[in-house]
Amino acid sequence: MIYLDNAATTRVAPEVFEAMTPFLRDEYGNPSSVYALAGRAAAAMQEARRAVADFIGAEIDEIIFTGGGSEADNLAIKGIMSKHEGGHMITSAIEHHAVLHTCEALESRGYDLSAVGVDENGMVDPEEIRAAIREDTRIISIMHSNNEVGTLQPIAEISAIAREHDVLIHTDAVQSLGKVPLNVKELGVDLAAFSAHKLHGPKGVGVLYVRKGVRPQPLIHGGGQERRMRAGTENTAGIVGFGEAVKLAAQQGSEGIERMRSLRDRFIDGLMEAVPDVILSGHPEKRLPNLASFLFKYIEGEGILLSLDMHQIAASSGSACTSGSLDPSHVLLAMGYPHEVAHGSLRVSLSRYTTEEEIDTVLEKLPPIIGRLREMSPLVPG
Ligand SMILES: *Cc1c(COP(=O)(O)O)cnc(C)c1O
Repeated sequence: MIYLDNAATTRVAPEVFEAMTPFLRDEYGNPSSVYALAGRAAAAMQEARRAVADFIGAEIDEIIFTGGGSEADNLAIKGIMSKHEGGHMITSAIEHHAVLHTCEALESRGYDLSAVGVDENGMVDPEEIRAAIREDTRIISIMHSNNEVGTLQPIAEISAIAREHDVLIHTDAVQSLGKVPLNVKELGVDLAAFSAHKLHGPKGVGVLYVRKGVRPQPLIHGGGQERRMRAGTENTAGIVGFGEAVKLAAQQGSEGIERMRSLRDRFIDGLMEAVPDVILSGHPEKRLPNLASFLFKYIEGEGILLSLDMHQIAASSGSACTSGSLDPSHVLLAMGYPHEVAHGSLRVSLSRYTTEEEIDTVLEKLPPIIGRLREMSPLVPG
């Protein structure tokens, strides 16, 4: 099988699996207990915390492990907003639903929400954020990179504006971890969300970076774990897996990233040459190195996915019917694409395991699929 849906999830790296196994089998101690068995679990967890902290330029006690990226986003936004009776938050129209639906849930409870738009490249304008700030704005939440089109946002600029106005800033950096250099201090953010399974770690474990001095209210009450910000006996194996995944990404360094980028570019060039009436969506330069998103006029993304699946090729479409709806992607609509164009989207996302041979196979299979679907489409002009 050729797996090109790494923005949805990634395979667990063999080294990650190996690192996790002892903590699912023999090293089952509760990290909060006092005997040696527990001490080893606590030490392994601390090592993972150190690895993540080093990788993002944070202090070790600024790392809060959560049950995934969605929970980290929820903890950041609800955790800050719920400290206040009311108030205003700012986000963008292209956020992941973990941010957008969290903000909308708060809005239905009486908080105010502004969602700024984006340009045709999927880029937020920092000046629009500045203009949206109010006296009672508590948090700005803008993603570091978009999961559908890959556009990288000007987070450092937005942070500077937030700082000027004494507003906290959160960034969903789930897609960026291990793909672009990322340092939370240089970005100047107060909160940042990450997830292990987008980086060859296990599902169900995430991180919220919480800058020293910032204290979101917990979503989950109970024991005093994670500096009282996330109760519950820790997912030791998952946390160890996250640590290992980050160490592997650090080892791969820019070399691994450049390999992905060059394969991705090979794919873009090959496809654009072979297929007419196709748009490469997202920012032409400021984009994730492992992702490409296309819009094929006159056909549906769903049809492309089903045909690719028959060749054992896994990719994704912005109009995926996972939600049971065939609504086109809110991201593509916010970028100004009309419904009928947004329906023809295909997202291809690579990992460091993707090979040149795989890319060339897809470049061979995909153009005839597009051709066939267009032959059957009543929308093709003439
Ligand atoms: C996958 C993803 C999430 C959610 O992370 P989970 O660990 O699956 O909950 C949040 N934001 C972005 C941008 C993502 O791509």
